Amino acid sequence: MHVRRKLVAGNWKMNGSRAALAELAAIAAAAREASGVDVAICPPFTLIPLAVPRAGGLSIGGQDCHAEASGAHTGDVSAQLLAEAGARLVIVGHSERRADHGETDGAVRAKAEAALAAGLQTILCVGEVEEERIAGGHVEKVLFQLEHSVPELRREAELVIAYEPVWAIGTGRTATPDDAAEMHAAIRRALTERFGDAGARVRILYGGSCNAKNAEALFAVPDVDGGLAGGASLTADAFIPIIQAAARS
Ligand code: PEP
Repeated sequence: MHVRRKLVAGNWKMNGSRAALAELAAIAAAAREASGVDVAICPPFTLIPLAVPRAGGLSIGGQDCHAEASGAHTGDVSAQLLAEAGARLVIVGHSERRADHGETDGAVRAKAEAALAAGLQTILCVGEVEEERIAGGHVEKVLFQLEHSVPELRREAELVIAYEPVWAIGTGRTATPDDAAEMHAAIRRALTERFGDAGARVRILYGGSCNAKNAEALFAVPDVDGGLAGGASLTADAFIPIIQAAARS
């Protein structure tokens, strides 16, 4: 049985500002107190170099990267550029990127490969839409995404999976602990079948309206190794209770 440290990561999406970086001091202090928990914040690209010197006990990450190291890709950012800016991690395959930018599982896999090769911890998101859950195909959908978007594991960096039901993102609706238990166990089985013992070390986060009220119950579920929070990561007041819930679990 593997003991996996909890990870609580915040995705600021296209929110935040220079002024919002003031939130990081309190979040970093809470992260230092929660010694058994890893904490990360992924602000917009432009804030990364400003966030890094304020990070203290936190890791700063990006929200996306290009699959190529460099080239004619206007507006994109490579994993190497993120690492050079001081990022230690990156989110790939977020459902908003899949929906807004038509990212396929193949594209997500290529991004994850690039991120891992650049030495970044890589949070790869998967999750079903509501119609798939209602039709009973949610587990099958997520396992398909995993099979086609998760690359081979590399030693230089760590892969993390975030299970984010799309219907729960930004809606205030959350998977129940039973829903999360079913999906996280299925993801764990798929990872260990493919990667053996290394699959048991991959952390699996829950994301989707994770907040101070529901985090503790979700983090108590076996194979829920922490959370990826969007809205609740924008302020220290909302994010710190999630870090503390992870420290208690
Ligand atoms: C997210 O963007 O990854 C997310 C989980 O958002 P929210 O917590 O706002 O639902």
